[in-house]
Amino acid sequence: MTHDHDDHDHDHDHDNRYTDMQARVKALETVLTEKGLLDPAAIDAIVEAYETRIGPRNGAHVVARAWTDPAFADWLKRDATAAIASLGYAGRQGEHMRAVFNTPDTHNLVVCTLCSCYPWSVLGLPPVWYKAPAYRSRAVIDPRGVLAEFGVTLPADKKIRVWDSTAELRYLVIPERPPGANGLSEADLAKLVSRDSMIGASIAGAPT
Ligand code: FE
Repeated sequence: MTHDHDDHDHDHDHDNRYTDMQARVKALETVLTEKGLLDPAAIDAIVEAYETRIGPRNGAHVVARAWTDPAFADWLKRDATAAIASLGYAGRQGEHMRAVFNTPDTHNLVVCTLCSCYPWSVLGLPPVWYKAPAYRSRAVIDPRGVLAEFGVTLPADKKIRVWDSTAELRYLVIPERPPGANGLSEADLAKLVSRDSMIGASIAGAPT
């Protein structure tokens, strides 16, 4: 086996180069820690939670429950924050939730035109495109065009409602239940629900 460089005893520190943003975050964390304002272990715990425990599967669980339990769906319409919290999903960036239901007449699309407000408790951290200026401006101006770029072509007579998230209110799209999903368990239904479908940038998949 050959190495393509000589210094094969190096300690791989050169793999830890930071991007500008990572360097800034690291600097901020260091300063706050030195001042005693921040416990690095607390940061690690939060990051770990969003990497492993908090993500779109939470939202998919909410959607699947709404599809199978009309009383829950009704509660979700009236008080999404409480209904979602009843499944154990609460906390940061999910304090004030509203569920918007896709129907045969109306498709819902969520954006944050100002920055990147997003329902972390049910969807985890936002995808890169959600934070991109192009999505944030065009989702409002030309939602149908944006959806087409995501591969979603809606009937021309279907209305599209665009919801602008804020720090005060976060939206969760409840996709239409796909045809042919009768008799599936809640867990199997949840597998049909993608992250993007809960932002409104996709629709729920048909069972395979
Ligand atoms: Fe925002």
